[in-house]
Parts: sequence; structure tokens; C-alpha cells
Amino acid sequence: AKQAGRNQFAVFTREMFDQAQHRLTLSRDIRQALDAGQFHLVYQPIVELESMKLVGLEALLRWKHESGYMVPPQEFIRVAEETGMIGRLGEFAMRQALSDLGRWKALTGRPPWLAVNISGAQIRESDFAERLSVMLHEARIEPSLLHLEITEEVLIENLMRNRRTLQKLDGIGMRIVVDDFGVGYSSLAYLKNFPISVVKIDRGFVQDLANDPEDQAITRTICSLTRDLGMATVAEGIEHPEQLALLRSFQCIHGQGYLFSRPVEAPRIEAMLMESVDW
Ligand code: C2E
Ligand code: CA
Ligand code: CA
Ligand code: CA
Repeated sequence: AKQAGRNQFAVFTREMFDQAQHRLTLSRDIRQALDAGQFHLVYQPIVELESMKLVGLEALLRWKHESGYMVPPQEFIRVAEETGMIGRLGEFAMRQALSDLGRWKALTGRPPWLAVNISGAQIRESDFAERLSVMLHEARIEPSLLHLEITEEVLIENLMRNRRTLQKLDGIGMRIVVDDFGVGYSSLAYLKNFPISVVKIDRGFVQDLANDPEDQAITRTICSLTRDLGMATVAEGIEHPEQLALLRSFQCIHGQGYLFSRPVEAPRIEAMLMESVDW
């Protein structure tokens, strides 16, 4: 076993080296790209399935590298988390999102809520809740319009400390959303122990919904469980009318996906809000 391990080790270090190089380049690039204005947000509509109206938006970061290449978010978010750049990147996204929301509020009077993805490293910053509260105040946005999307890991890591931070955020009136629900180390206990307002059903359960009785059972159960707990659900990745029909029959509250709209640039959202689109 030792010998095999040795051979694998040689191959492994080579790959690790390449990855480390790649990460180093990317993290330096992230810093420069932020200063050069290469990051921006796109927004994806979230639809209330009963009325089929636009009720929310999810802000998603985009990085257009100077070469013109769109760096995939999964890639640069992971690097930003590993290299400690996520704090600055997250702050940029939050400020941009609140400024856009402020404009849409002035435009329509009744803006949709805005969901912003938050990394574990941001939640762990000791003054996260306070700083966010100041930003909301400055942007004149009522806290309930801001939904903070966190993944299940955040509920598990630094259990006591993160719970305290989430309770603070909830106390101020922001909404805590569990993203990618059902894929991680799901524990139903945290639905009870954390101040969660919304559960986002992972795209993985929605993808095959029309053909997979297991996915139907899981999705139906999540919808009814969260309903009984007084939470809302958002189903992600709705692409086909069959998926939508099933989710509506499960009384899933909200949905998001290419069937309604891809993530789009801010001016497109503005046009949708002015036209009060529905689907
Ligand atoms: P996520 O939070 O689960 O975001 C949903 C992803 O699903 C987005 O990918 C969105 O474009 C994609 N999507 C939406 N509807 C559909 C659909 O109908 N079909 C399919 N196939 N995909 C759909 P995106 O924009 O590439 O983002 C990937 C991930 O990057 C996000 O997953 C999130 O984890 C992360 N991310 C993006 N922006 C931010 C950010 O500002 N901060 C943090 N921390 N993470 C971010
Ligand atoms: Ca999300
Ligand atoms: Ca998700
Ligand atoms: Ca299956």
C-alpha cells in the first residue's frame, strides 16, 4: 500500500502544484479585477407560483475577465473563499445589490425582495450583522427586503457563533434562507434551532422531477414540512412546464429557473418591474 501511495503521491503533488499556481494567479486576478471593475451582478427573478408574479430577485456575481472570458462563479467564489478575498468580493456584491434595489424602490414603490448569497467566511466576521445593518440604513432599505442565502455548512460550522450571528440578523428583520437544501449534511434539527424563513430546494431534486418518483416524494415532503413550520419554499432550476405543474400541485410557494428567466442584467430587471411582468 505504501508503494502505491508513493506513486500516487508523485502524480498528486504535480496536480497540486498546478492547482496552487492556478489559485495564486486567480486570487491576484480577483484583487485586480475588483479594482478594474470587472465584476458585476446579474439578477434572476423569483416567481410566486400561485400568482405567477415576480416577487423576488437573486443577485449573482459575474466576472468578465479582461480577456473577455466569463470566469464561472463556482470557480472564482471557491478561490475567493480559499484566499480570503471573499470578504471584499462579498462586500462589493452587497453594496451593488443594495444600490440597485434602492433605485428599483424609488422607481416602483414596492420593490421585490432581494436575495444575496453569503459565504461562511462572511458570517464568521465578528461585525457582519452590525455592518450590514449600517449598509441597509444608509441605502434606506427595510431589512425584510434583504434575504441572506447561506448553505447548510454554515449552520454546522462554528455552531454557536454562527447561530448567534444569524439570530442577530433575524432580529434586525433580515430573512435567512437555506440554499441548496437537501444536498449537504441535512439535519432537520436546524430548521428548528435556527431562525430560518425560507428553504431553497436544490436544483438536483427539481431536474428529474417529472420522471423520478423519489424526487417527487422528497420535494413534496420538503414543501409540506416547511409549510407546517411556517417557512416559505423556493424551488430552484425550473426549466420545464411539467416541473412547474408538479411544484404547484405540491403547493411550493416560489420558483426560480430558466422557464421564467435566466439571470439578467440590471436594466432588464428594471424593464420587467416597469411592465409588472408575470408568467
Ligand atoms: P446558487 O446560489 O445555487 O445559484 C443558482 C445557480 O443556478 C446560478 O448559477 C444560476 O444561474 C443557476 N440557475 C438558475 N436557474 C437555473 C435553471 O433553470 N437551470 C440551470 N441549469 N441553472 C439555473 P451561477 O450564477 O453560475 O452561480 C453559481 C453559484 O455561485 C451559486 O449557486 C452560488 O453558490 C455562487 N455565487 C454566485 N454569486 C455569488 C455571490 O455573490 N456570493 C457568493 N458567496 N456566492 C455566489
Ligand atoms: Ca443562491
Ligand atoms: Ca442554490
Ligand atoms: Ca432517483
